[in-house]
Amino acid sequence: MSESRQTHFGYQTVDEAQKAGRVAGVFHSVATRYDLMNDLMSGGLHRLWKIFTVRQAAVRPGMRVLDVAGGTADLARAFARRVGPRGEVWLTDINGSMLAVGRDRLIDDGCLHPAVQCDAEALPFPDAYFDRVSVAFGLRNMTHKERALAEMHRVLAPGGRLLVLEFSRVRKALAPLYDIYSFSVLPWLGARVAGDEASYRYLAESIRMHPDQETLKTMMESAGFTRVRYFNLTGGVVALHEGFKP
Ligand code: SAM
Repeated sequence: MSESRQTHFGYQTVDEAQKAGRVAGVFHSVATRYDLMNDLMSGGLHRLWKIFTVRQAAVRPGMRVLDVAGGTADLARAFARRVGPRGEVWLTDINGSMLAVGRDRLIDDGCLHPAVQCDAEALPFPDAYFDRVSVAFGLRNMTHKERALAEMHRVLAPGGRLLVLEFSRVRKALAPLYDIYSFSVLPWLGARVAGDEASYRYLAESIRMHPDQETLKTMMESAGFTRVRYFNLTGGVVALHEGFKP
């Protein structure tokens, strides 16, 4: 009898085969309120974290950029303004509800870039196609993070850059306050604003289960990235990891 592998869904242990479905449930549920909740939960800070990410990406006109798990397209829209008419920005996400919001926001900006529903663990793009790959607040939700990082490495051209923006490990002094905020305020806000307390409890738990700064750096190096470094933002609430394909 074959034993099924286990993974985390927040603090719960679930079969690997179940995780993607559980994550999908979270994002189908929150998609229409996702942007509002981001502003409320972070006090607008997520905008600054994304501005920093876009600056660090150093996207130039004519480049090809892939935004993995791009959701409501905050990064893709910013990249679209930078690549100009000869460049390409591909918004991708596994979740149709999130992708639909992102695609509509791109169109509202007058950007005619493709939106593709796909799994980060099996990207439908040729090897070495992109100059930049980004993933913001997405890696944490993936079942096989190593597989997703390997795919991002595969589709990057030599010299290309990966940017991973993700919740990370906060400075020790901030931890008690951050715990109260995460496990009391976040689910409360989720219940009141998005009508979904469980999804925001998952958010708090999944952040705690995600690899810390050094572990993610090592994972990126194992996937083949070089010159990997990270920037702690807001005391490590979030970290931006950057790595290059040699
Ligand atoms: N990148 C956007 C942002 O920064 O606002 C959205 C982040 S949202 C917290 C996480 C996104 O990851 C969701 O839209 C979810 O559908 C997507 N996601 C989760 N697992 C995925 C996978 N295996 N492949 C692609 N996208 C995935």
